[in-house]
Amino acid sequence: MSDEKDRLGDKLRDVEKAREDQWAFEQDRKLIEKMRERVKGGQSLCPRCHEALVPRVEHGLKVLACPKGEGVWLDEAAFKHLLSHH
Ligand SMILES: [Zn+2]
Repeated sequence: MSDEKDRLGDKLRDVEKAREDQWAFEQDRKLIEKMRERVKGGQSLCPRCHEALVPRVEHGLKVLACPKGEGVWLDEAAFKHLLSHH
Protein backbone atom coordinates (compact mmCIF):
# COMPACT_ATOMS: atom_id res chain seq x y z
CA MET A 1 0.00 0.00 0.00
CA SER A 2 2.85 2.34 0.81
CA ASP A 3 4.12 1.58 -2.66
CA GLU A 4 0.91 2.98 -4.06
CA LYS A 5 1.35 6.10 -1.93
CA ASP A 6 4.87 6.65 -3.23
CA ARG A 7 3.69 6.43 -6.76
CA LEU A 8 1.05 9.04 -6.08
CA GLY A 9 3.70 11.23 -4.49
CA ASP A 10 5.88 10.85 -7.57
CA LYS A 11 3.00 11.75 -9.78
CA LEU A 12 2.27 14.89 -7.78
CA ARG A 13 5.90 15.87 -7.97
CA ASP A 14 5.81 15.37 -11.72
CA VAL A 15 2.77 17.62 -11.98
CA GLU A 16 4.45 20.29 -9.87
CA LYS A 17 7.60 20.05 -11.93
CA ALA A 18 5.60 20.34 -15.13
CA ARG A 19 3.90 23.46 -13.80
CA GLU A 20 7.22 25.03 -12.91
CA ASP A 21 8.57 24.20 -16.34
CA GLN A 22 5.50 25.73 -17.91
CA TRP A 23 5.95 28.86 -15.81
CA ALA A 24 9.63 29.14 -16.73
CA PHE A 25 8.74 28.58 -20.35
CA GLU A 26 6.13 31.36 -20.21
CA GLN A 27 8.65 33.74 -18.65
CA ASP A 28 11.21 32.94 -21.33
CA ARG A 29 8.65 33.39 -24.05
CA LYS A 30 7.57 36.78 -22.71
CA LEU A 31 11.15 37.93 -22.41
CA ILE A 32 11.98 36.78 -25.93
CA GLU A 33 8.90 38.52 -27.29
CA LYS A 34 9.88 41.71 -25.51
CA MET A 35 13.38 41.48 -26.95
CA ARG A 36 12.04 40.77 -30.43
CA GLU A 37 9.89 43.88 -30.29
CA ARG A 38 12.88 46.01 -29.43
CA VAL A 39 15.10 44.32 -31.98
CA LYS A 40 12.49 45.01 -34.64
CA GLY A 41 13.16 48.68 -33.99
CA GLY A 42 16.76 48.01 -35.03
CA GLN A 43 18.12 48.17 -31.50
CA SER A 44 20.44 45.74 -29.80
CA LEU A 45 19.73 45.08 -26.16
CA CYS A 46 22.01 44.74 -23.18
CA PRO A 47 22.06 41.04 -22.23
CA ARG A 48 22.11 42.05 -18.55
CA CYS A 49 19.45 44.73 -18.12
CA HIS A 50 17.74 44.48 -21.54
CA GLU A 51 17.96 48.19 -22.13
CA ALA A 52 18.76 49.34 -25.65
CA LEU A 53 22.50 49.57 -26.17
CA VAL A 54 23.89 52.94 -27.18
CA PRO A 55 26.31 53.01 -30.13
CA ARG A 56 29.53 54.79 -29.26
CA VAL A 57 32.97 55.21 -30.71
CA GLU A 58 35.81 54.39 -28.34
CA HIS A 59 39.36 54.86 -29.58
CA GLY A 60 38.18 54.64 -33.13
CA LEU A 61 36.27 51.41 -32.49
CA LYS A 62 32.52 51.19 -32.86
CA VAL A 63 31.04 49.71 -29.72
CA LEU A 64 27.61 49.30 -28.18
CA ALA A 65 27.44 50.49 -24.60
CA CYS A 66 24.91 49.68 -21.91
CA PRO A 67 23.08 52.88 -20.89
CA LYS A 68 23.47 51.83 -17.25
CA GLY A 69 27.20 51.37 -17.61
CA GLU A 70 27.07 47.60 -17.16
CA GLY A 71 29.35 46.91 -20.05
CA VAL A 72 30.38 47.53 -23.59
CA TRP A 73 29.93 45.14 -26.47
CA LEU A 74 32.22 44.86 -29.47
CA ASP A 75 31.77 43.01 -32.70
CA GLU A 76 34.38 40.39 -33.50
CA ALA A 77 36.40 42.59 -35.83
CA ALA A 78 36.64 45.34 -33.21
CA PHE A 79 37.56 42.81 -30.54
CA LYS A 80 40.38 41.32 -32.64
CA HIS A 81 41.60 44.80 -33.49
CA LEU A 82 41.72 45.58 -29.77
CA LEU A 83 43.61 42.37 -28.98
CA SER A 84 46.19 42.98 -31.64
CA HIS A 85 46.82 46.57 -30.57
CA HIS A 86 46.98 46.30 -26.81
ZN1 LIG B 1 22.78 46.82 -19.17
